[in-house]
Amino acid sequence: MNDFTNCPQLYKYRAIDQLPEPPSVDAERGKLIHAVLEDLFEERSEKRTLDTALDLLPAAWKRQCETQPELAQLVLDQKEWIDRASALLANYFELEQPHTFESTYRELHLEKNVSEEIYLHGYVDRLDIAPTGEVRIVDYKTGKSPKPGWEEKALFQLRVYALLYWQNQGVLPRLLKLIYLGDRKVIESSPTEAQLKSAEKILTNIGQEILTAIETMHFPTKKSRLCDWCFFKTICPAHN
Ligand code: SF4
Repeated sequence: MNDFTNCPQLYKYRAIDQLPEPPSVDAERGKLIHAVLEDLFEERSEKRTLDTALDLLPAAWKRQCETQPELAQLVLDQKEWIDRASALLANYFELEQPHTFESTYRELHLEKNVSEEIYLHGYVDRLDIAPTGEVRIVDYKTGKSPKPGWEEKALFQLRVYALLYWQNQGVLPRLLKLIYLGDRKVIESSPTEAQLKSAEKILTNIGQEILTAIETMHFPTKKSRLCDWCFFKTICPAHN
């Protein structure tokens, strides 16, 4: 949905044509940090320390390389790679003290049939249910936090998760938390029913736009700064 909103043609390349893309350094770094933080919460509370996270890092990276041998071409300087990942993990421990609370779910899969034609699903990095029953949805970002004024856009993803959880479990999450390890910032928001209903309306509209684009096979290009990072720029009609 994000791809379609950014550029329908990009969505077509990825979701319809399913063209292969090389792995990206940022995405792979994100995967690695997510894997380590997931493993960290499998440890007993007193072991959830930075030292443990740093100990878990090499094994997580080894697993990642085993499933994607092409990463050997992407990461040439292993020491620099591990150092940067270690710095991000150190940033995490400045923002949360994972030994002080229990996490209920990691990589929780949420799904729903929005309509007969639209199926929506996603994976929540972490969902914590307090002993009092309050629910917190957490998402880790390895990049930097958005510029002032862009926080609402960033929160949309978590509002979608909150909507799915609310509709499936009947509990309105109390807090949404975006953790930006790149610049050690946190964005928090308490979702309201009105916000989640508005998110549902936006999702349904985007879903309908996607269905119309598929029916008419019309996926317009949308030039923006994102084009500089788009792997398909060399074949995109907007640039040729
Ligand atoms: S290069 Fe830009 S316009 Fe073309 S597909 Fe990619 S994002 Fe869309």
